[in-house]
Amino acid sequence: MARADKKPTGKKSLRKKAMGKKSSRKKVTGKNPAYKKATGKKSSPSTIARKETMHRKTTGKKATGKKSSPSTIARKETMHRKTTDKKHTNKKNPNKTITDKKNTSKKATHKKTSRKNPAYKKASRKKATSKKAIPRATSALSDQECKKFFAALAAERPEPQGELHYTNSYTLLVAVVLSAQATDSGVNRATVNLFPLADTPQKMLALGEAKLRTKIQTIGLYRTKAKNVIALSRQLVSHHQGQVPQDHDSLVALPGVGRKTANVVRNIAFAAETIAVDTHVFRVANRTGLAAGKNTDEVEAALLRRVPRAYLRHAHHWLILHGRYTCTARAPKCGACPVFAFCRWQDKER
Ligand code: SF4
Repeated sequence: MARADKKPTGKKSLRKKAMGKKSSRKKVTGKNPAYKKATGKKSSPSTIARKETMHRKTTGKKATGKKSSPSTIARKETMHRKTTDKKHTNKKNPNKTITDKKNTSKKATHKKTSRKNPAYKKASRKKATSKKAIPRATSALSDQECKKFFAALAAERPEPQGELHYTNSYTLLVAVVLSAQATDSGVNRATVNLFPLADTPQKMLALGEAKLRTKIQTIGLYRTKAKNVIALSRQLVSHHQGQVPQDHDSLVALPGVGRKTANVVRNIAFAAETIAVDTHVFRVANRTGLAAGKNTDEVEAALLRRVPRAYLRHAHHWLILHGRYTCTARAPKCGACPVFAFCRWQDKER
């Protein structure tokens, strides 16, 4: 009998058999990578996720060599995930994998650019709206026309006033914080009951966030705003002896206070020559040819350059009130407009 055909007998053979069994057990264990490779067993979801993350990172770097925008990264990741999954399920046929990958990419591109795709429609509608949202003037006003423009607005409202109700710089700050994405009249309806109870940061802290929420719950985003008012009151007490700071940097460091809020507070409470650009000021400045800009920062910078010094103190109020009551977004009252002669909007009509 050949050595290979010998049947195992005796202790030695049994030991060998046992060793053989052990080796066989090692072979079938799921932890052995060689086994996984041989059997084509799928990795666990967490392993796939980890591999995908690493793959995405390296691919992102190789593909562009520079930082992509968040939307581009998200799109690339989605496409990459699709192609990676295909590759894993077609290990035996590499050619098929390449074809599938190509097809997937084509499909993804088609889906992305197809007009039937709801995401595409939404994106194009947004693009169209944002283009339409900036009403452009046919040309810019000259310096002389700028001067006459403000002279006309000043003649109409010699002492322009904001429409938010307040009793001191602190209540002004709170009212402006509450007025974000809300109407002045809506804020006034809420603060008429709030300010008699809390007109200082200390009193606001004593009132507490829960009670403040109930007082301002008619205003949009009231939960976030209540949290911000309490946080800014705490900061005023701890960093500014309970007083509203006058400088821009200290104001914007307060919770819930942005550039626009800081400019309004500095202009009204401390007579600073600032211009806060809200939706009305943005529209009027672009539409009339007074100060063009793609965003509020650009318009603010342009207005600060163009508004004559003599009118800078009240320019903010004149432009807001003009935009709110005369040069409205949908149906501007050009027939009753005091600056009709200077306005460079192509659609203006008496
Ligand atoms: S003329 Fe019409 S568009 Fe021009 S500023 Fe006056 S209201 Fe606005």
